[in-house]
Amino acid sequence: MSFDPHSHEYAGDILKDRIILITGASDGIGKALAVHTAGLGAQVLLHGRNKKKLESVYDEISEIKDAPQPWIAVIDFATAEAGAYSDLVENIEKEFGRLDGLVHNASILGQRLSIEQYDIADWQQVMHVNLTVPFVLTQALLPLMRKSDDPSIIFTSSGVGRVGKAFWGAYSVSKFGTEALSQILADENRHTSLRANCINPGPIRTKMRLAAYPAEDRDKLKRPEDIMATYVYLLGPDSKGVTGESLDVQ
Ligand code: NDP
Repeated sequence: MSFDPHSHEYAGDILKDRIILITGASDGIGKALAVHTAGLGAQVLLHGRNKKKLESVYDEISEIKDAPQPWIAVIDFATAEAGAYSDLVENIEKEFGRLDGLVHNASILGQRLSIEQYDIADWQQVMHVNLTVPFVLTQALLPLMRKSDDPSIIFTSSGVGRVGKAFWGAYSVSKFGTEALSQILADENRHTSLRANCINPGPIRTKMRLAAYPAEDRDKLKRPEDIMATYVYLLGPDSKGVTGESLDVQ
């Protein structure tokens, strides 16, 4: 499904009182989303693996007038064990009592090699960070999301999550899996208020895109700040009842 962000207009406080966890909020799209949603009144829970980078996002949000003070969770998805996820859930429950939005944004690119050459350990790590962790985190956080009146989960897909392309290896397979995970969750929750959808951001000027296409003219790419409307749409009240979709931002 394509979505025209230009036609989605929203009030400056549309996410007021919503508690939203964003994974990979230390850089790129996740960072821009954290700053943008905090500016719209959301209580943002910033996840990342690098505390220093998260603290700098925290400082940026603290400068925004009337934005709720953010909250930081440091977990390295490549190495974390079960206890890290149960601690996260416990801490969110203690601090906030519920969760309204969950954006699975953190991902790694992995190797750009043929299937014939792809390293097995690298394959497993990409599948773990990009696909198994969103499953684990979703399962762990569902009880807190059920306490919300309007819970919304966003998974992050990719063009290579719909069509397999040479040399995209585990990243592509993990994004196909992400689409499936989102669809299954949406279907299992058709008769509940919980919605689950994917966003395919398209080519965006971030460190991941630059690693995938080092020779590209980066000035021609959209910036993360340019694609926020689709995320706001899915996180806010205007998308009530929209579930099982995969939205192309561009
Ligand atoms: P970036 O590489 O800029 O940011 C990725 C984020 O994920 C960073 O915050 C990074 O942390 C975090 N992260 C990576 N590995 C781990 C880990 N092991 N544990 C915890 N956090 C981790 O990527 P983008 O902003 O470009 O990508 C965001 C999403 O959009 C991804 O899901 C990506 O697949 C998707 N996407 C992006 C496109 C693009 O053109 N940019 C196109 C299509 C899809 P740190 O800051 O420490 O590195």
